[in-house]
Amino acid sequence: MPAFDIIVVGSGGGLDETNLSGYLLKPGDAEWTDGIIALEAGSGHGALRSILKASPGIFGEQPQTDPPGPCMTNPFQIYSLVRCFLITHAHIDHIASLVVSAGTIGGGSKRIYASPQTLKDLETVFADRVWPNLATWDESNPLFRLVYHSIHADRKYKVIFPNVSVRNMPVSHGKNESGPYESTAFFIRHEPSEHEFIFFGDVEPDSVASKPRNIDIWRAAAPKIPHNLSAIFIECSYPKGRPSDVLYGHFSPEHLVNELVALATEVVIARRTPKGSGRSRPRKKQKNNDPVPADELRGVLDGLRVYIMHCKEHFNTDVPIAHYIRDQVRELLEPHGLGVELLSADQGSKIGKPSSTALPRPSSSAVFPIFPSSSMHSGSFLS
Ligand SMILES: [Zn+2]
Ligand SMILES: [Zn+2]
Repeated sequence: MPAFDIIVVGSGGGLDETNLSGYLLKPGDAEWTDGIIALEAGSGHGALRSILKASPGIFGEQPQTDPPGPCMTNPFQIYSLVRCFLITHAHIDHIASLVVSAGTIGGGSKRIYASPQTLKDLETVFADRVWPNLATWDESNPLFRLVYHSIHADRKYKVIFPNVSVRNMPVSHGKNESGPYESTAFFIRHEPSEHEFIFFGDVEPDSVASKPRNIDIWRAAAPKIPHNLSAIFIECSYPKGRPSDVLYGHFSPEHLVNELVALATEVVIARRTPKGSGRSRPRKKQKNNDPVPADELRGVLDGLRVYIMHCKEHFNTDVPIAHYIRDQVRELLEPHGLGVELLSADQGSKIGKPSSTALPRPSSSAVFPIFPSSSMHSGSFLS
């Protein structure tokens, strides 16, 4: 049983406002009608409407209940099922649909989970100038349906949904006038199975960041790969060859490959370290940091799937930009032989358990010719 099902409402990171970061998530052993986690909220209702036109069965069969339940081909009714939002940072391409739908979204009250700083930033949007104030910190205020709720970077997993808990780890995402800008990587865990995956907000390479923090994430992930942690969603905004001084807090293929080598190195180190030695605690100075020979890294990431996302569209490539960049990363990864499977998180795809009612492959290209339906995965991607 896969731990989670994910529908990719939007996965771009560029100027295409119809394809911005937005994912709908549920535990694999629950129904969509039991409730949904909205992971990021760049694109929302509008993008989902286009997806449902192309793939009316993507949420599975319409449940036959009396009285009738929500219509699973209607974006408004699907978003009514959202119980909470989980937001990595407050850049507009990650919050736009949360903001524009705040006054009219259906269903009961919804928590917005994010780091304290991200919520502070969101407050500046919901401040009666850019947009009306439609969110509150006061859980008991019946006038508001959106409620801020902090997830601190305290190493703990916090329950945000039945059977789902989340750990927040800060990552660097460029800098602004006041210093380094922080985004978040979430470890999202299905409690009954203890399976988890990592979802990165926008992030920059450790070799570029003034405050390198990806290494902490690789160290936290390494002992769990691949049995308890078999999927990572991470950005790769730009294609190959972009100079590091104009990455503006993002990844390019060369840097992503270096980071995956760093992850593989940590996995080797974790496997060398006897269990129960306390090695999972953060290391001030790593003693065991002799470089791991390239040969020893071969196959180390077998069983791990890495989904790239947030590729910046510029409408100049023959293939979708996400596939263009994915292929570049694959080519650069190949000589390392790490064993990792590199995929793109394509808009309109469903990642998770196979659904007998999802549209057959050719049909989703009707509305999304740019995202060929070969991306309609049907394996246990997050198991
Ligand atoms: Zn972004
Ligand atoms: Zn950003």
